Amino acid sequence: MERENAWKKYDDTAEVYDFAEGYRQFISQNKTERECAAYFEGKAKAAGFKDLKEVIKAAVPIRPGDKLYAVNKAKEVALFVIGKKPLCEGMRILGAHIDSPRLDLKQNPLYEDTDMALLDTHYYGGVKKYQWVTLPLALHGVVAKKDGEVIKVSVGDEPGDPVFGVSDLLIHLSQEQLEKKGAKVVEGEDLNVLVGSIPASKKEKEEAKELVKANIVNILQEKYNIEEEDFLSAEIEVVPAGEARDYGFDRSMIMGYGHDDRVCAYPSYEAIAAMSKVDYTSVCLLVDKEEIGSVGATGMHSSFFTDMVAELCALEGNDSAVYLRRVLSNSKVLSSDVSAAYDPNYPSVMEKKNSAYFGRGVVYNKYTGSRGKSGSNDANAEYVAWIRKVMDDSDVSFQTAELGKVDAGGGGTIAYILGNLNMQVIDSGVAVLNMHAPWEIISKVDLYEAFKAYKAFLIAE
Ligand code: MN
Ligand code: MN
Repeated sequence: MERENAWKKYDDTAEVYDFAEGYRQFISQNKTERECAAYFEGKAKAAGFKDLKEVIKAAVPIRPGDKLYAVNKAKEVALFVIGKKPLCEGMRILGAHIDSPRLDLKQNPLYEDTDMALLDTHYYGGVKKYQWVTLPLALHGVVAKKDGEVIKVSVGDEPGDPVFGVSDLLIHLSQEQLEKKGAKVVEGEDLNVLVGSIPASKKEKEEAKELVKANIVNILQEKYNIEEEDFLSAEIEVVPAGEARDYGFDRSMIMGYGHDDRVCAYPSYEAIAAMSKVDYTSVCLLVDKEEIGSVGATGMHSSFFTDMVAELCALEGNDSAVYLRRVLSNSKVLSSDVSAAYDPNYPSVMEKKNSAYFGRGVVYNKYTGSRGKSGSNDANAEYVAWIRKVMDDSDVSFQTAELGKVDAGGGGTIAYILGNLNMQVIDSGVAVLNMHAPWEIISKVDLYEAFKAYKAFLIAE
């Protein structure tokens, strides 16, 4: 049952490294769900995908080979390549998420304390808070003005940009801190980002008491045309600053921010972009809010996706409610999310026969969940058999795994939400070390096998 190391298949690894380099640049430049959505929208347009909303407006019937995309509130993207078979025979769906754990600025974030200006945050997703101190951090996001203008903010990632950060207590005075439990060593309310220390000159702000804060307000006004009140309608994410890097002497891995789950989103997009004439309609669905439960308008629980599929049915000439149900329940899904890579430093939480290993290819999790598979989509044996055949027929390296030992913890994905629509769904994806840490690590060959797996899935009988 042991799986072969996928690197052994390649006499020439250039295709693996080339694909990984494109991905490395993508995650270096796109660190928020909005940036990822804009990136994929741009790529899709350039590749000839048409805006579904425009097609709906013009009521143009869809035909096999049509390429369409829809963006939901700048944070979620659905891409379609229309198949030769009618939609009611089912779609082939690649699902992944483009949000990642981070610190979000609070609505009223800016304050001054002892001649330092700081931004207060509320973390997003599951983070070990102690990992987010003493790192160079960048600010990415948007500020929505009352007049409708949306100003993009990105500071900390361009050459020459300043960076920001959260301080940690010096070791010399940490006697009490080091007695605390890991979850309390750094507490959520202490994740405050230091952003300035020069007071504004008194002439400008004669009345102001908090002159360091006033100076930051001045800079924001001059540089971005942002008032302090505009933070009320802003979404600024605090993320690790800097590029993703090749990792290891052999450059076989990549260390980067947000592999979870852009390492699945990127090959999913590349796979659908490689499709032209498909039998079953291909779908690539890149959603937001997975890390906080797939909730809200741009999460997987939203009606956005079924709404877009209903629109496609109507454009195909089948707008009955029952037709949509048939399309959904005949569909097959690879719900892609990262898997826990076996970590030789922490073997005690893993069960070796059922762990994911670097280099052994795309990972399938029949089920995820915790405490007795709770909350998991448990894929049907028949569907897993079909997947095995598709992978083997296309010479894709794959492995099967669970997220750690029974009762060691657990986690969920978007899989069950699509399963609830009565689709055939299996969790798949790429193994990650340091999952949810500011800098996560993946294997380049696993990324490439995922790309090959997704293409094979989309074209399989
Ligand atoms: Mn994930
Ligand atoms: Mn995650």
